[in-house]
Amino acid sequence: MLPFSRVTVIGLGLIGSSVARAVHQYMPTVRVTGYDADPAVRERAREISLCDDIADTAGSAVIDADLAILCVPVGAMGKAGEAIAADLPADAIVSDVGSCKASVLAALSEALPNACIIPAHPVAGTEHSGPDAGFATLFHQRWCIVTPPAEASETATVRVEEFWRRLGANVERMDPQHHDLVLAVTSHLPHLIAYTIVGTASDLETVTQSEVIKYSAGGFRDFTRIAASDPTMWRDVFLSNKDAVLDMLQRFSEDLSALQRAIRWDKGDELFDLFSRTRTIRRSIIEQGQDDAAADFGRHHD
Ligand code: NAP
Repeated sequence: MLPFSRVTVIGLGLIGSSVARAVHQYMPTVRVTGYDADPAVRERAREISLCDDIADTAGSAVIDADLAILCVPVGAMGKAGEAIAADLPADAIVSDVGSCKASVLAALSEALPNACIIPAHPVAGTEHSGPDAGFATLFHQRWCIVTPPAEASETATVRVEEFWRRLGANVERMDPQHHDLVLAVTSHLPHLIAYTIVGTASDLETVTQSEVIKYSAGGFRDFTRIAASDPTMWRDVFLSNKDAVLDMLQRFSEDLSALQRAIRWDKGDELFDLFSRTRTIRRSIIEQGQDDAAADFGRHHD
């Protein structure tokens, strides 16, 4: 049996439009209603028939929903929750796709004190934004971490988990604080490093920008892909997951200092040992199907 029959997607960017497309593809009998705060996005969503219906207000979008899934930037979750509060059916489940979970749960619990809230985070994405960027297979074989609050209904949690499985994701349940710590290492810190490296390169005076671009295949290019990610989304992620990110950043700075010392004192063995360990991690990621072993990481070139 399908876990939901009337799904409302609030926020029709990369993730929201992918959810809408995936529901249409894998649960074609489910009715999908969409809403986005940006009228141009609503217009575009209508043009490409993204949903069965696009509502002009958040309230009218959820009026008969059995699942309302908020796909807006993390900093906008509270506001998006408030906008549906008056019209949300009493038995509807509210979920979201935000990249940080503790802050989102707090914001949604405040905005929707009587609602059944089961947050989730599909660990899948690209550096593109907007309703045209989404695709139905985005969540295939990717993890979706479901982070129910301690008092959450088990039945509601299982329904949300089943929803993500139907979209092709592997599902894991986690405590919201632990999720934020894990993602600080695997996602938030790498983005911060990429933003820093690309920023440093663009500030250089002795190496020209055209040289940086021309020789980018030496490693820089892969950082630029991450550093091209949506500025609003990432501003919100760092401010919302401040403690875990600062903690990881501290550890990273210490490790960087150790590397600096190893280079300064010609400790080749230390460098070799570290680079060998990191190679093993890359192999494990490929073995577990979380990236492509093809040349150039299987990325497409236009
Ligand atoms: P996106 O492409 O920028 O789309 C977000 C959409 O939500 C925009 O059209 C935005 O409109 C709209 N919006 C903002 N505030 C709203 C509100 N209060 N009510 C209704 N619509 C609102 O962003 P995204 O990449 O899909 O990210 C959405 C969420 O998914 C974020 O919480 C992010 O942390 C999470 N996530 C992202 C990725 C990824 O790789 N991108 C992966 C996993 C999870 P405006 O542009 O006018 O503000």
